[in-house]
Amino acid sequence: MNAPNDSTVLRVATASPYDVVVGHDVLDRLRGLLPEGVQRVAIITPESLEDLLEPFADLLEGLDVIVLQVPDGEEAKTWEVAAACWESLGEEGFTRSDAVVTLGGGATTDLGGFVAATWLRGVAVVHVPTTVLAMVDAAVGGKTGINTPAGKNLVGSFHEPAGVLCDLALLATLPRAEVVAGLGEVVKCGFIADPRILELVETTEPAELTADSPVLRELVERAIQVKADVVAGDLKETGGVDGHPGREVLNYGHTLAHAVEKATDYAIRHGEAVALGCVYVAELAARAGGLSPELVARHRAVFGRVGLPTSLPTSLLGGEGVDFDTLLATMRVDKKARGNQLRFVVLEDLARPVVLAGPSEADLRAAYAALSGLAGS
Ligand code: MG
Repeated sequence: MNAPNDSTVLRVATASPYDVVVGHDVLDRLRGLLPEGVQRVAIITPESLEDLLEPFADLLEGLDVIVLQVPDGEEAKTWEVAAACWESLGEEGFTRSDAVVTLGGGATTDLGGFVAATWLRGVAVVHVPTTVLAMVDAAVGGKTGINTPAGKNLVGSFHEPAGVLCDLALLATLPRAEVVAGLGEVVKCGFIADPRILELVETTEPAELTADSPVLRELVERAIQVKADVVAGDLKETGGVDGHPGREVLNYGHTLAHAVEKATDYAIRHGEAVALGCVYVAELAARAGGLSPELVARHRAVFGRVGLPTSLPTSLLGGEGVDFDTLLATMRVDKKARGNQLRFVVLEDLARPVVLAGPSEADLRAAYAALSGLAGS
């Protein structure tokens, strides 16, 4: 649906529905996403986005605005940073009719959403994501959380936003590698639900996927729509219907991706790890479920075309490589495993995801050999 100043409004039809506004130069839509009657707004934003802050706060003229600056990236997702935010909200006498606005990438969204979820047992939050990854993933779906020494995202809450504002103009200063990494989650959505995403990537010069590109905008909108449809059906990841994996489908490629991220001490970008993980589960499905060699090849072609890794050379893992047993051990403790059986979302066919539970160790190893380029696929 087209709205004023050429924005698209996508509705996330959960129990408390909300709008995701997407477009170029659409920050003036922020006020319209805040719940009625909001008097005070706390902007939670990383220090690195200081330059954006003044013009952004001006959009809220007439409201009481406080700014909570937090560290960049994952450094923000700690108990201490959350506690500092709660303290500031307490000092300001922040009430239930006030709202949090996050301005930043996925870590800011996760932390800010968690602060909003917990303050007074939940105040409204509007997310304004500034990376492709946050637009298509973290900002939509209501997952919030912080990290603990025991692992990432182990403490958190489901707290859906009152609205999400994706202004693609904010991507103009994002490093190219970050845009490319965000496309990892977008291409994932193409394989699990919306093949038009794959066709758009296949027919567009990758270098043209810049902040002002109408194709990038369509890709972002389509990926958000995929996520919106999935979370509307299964917000809390309890399961899908008719054999569909439900929200777990968004975890396509993520089981191996999380293990690779951990093995590289998070030096690899999430979207890069997701690309590797998706190629891995395609190889696994070719062995355990009969996915066609053409579709396996298409995984390599599309992720590779946008500039993401599709094989796992030892150079990616610090020159020494990671022995599959290490990755396998990590996958077994992944929070998405149930009991001690490994579970993977795999494809039966394009956009036909199913859960593969307990694949054989021989298939797991053969798929890894194929990903590593040690064996033919
Ligand atoms: Mg992800």
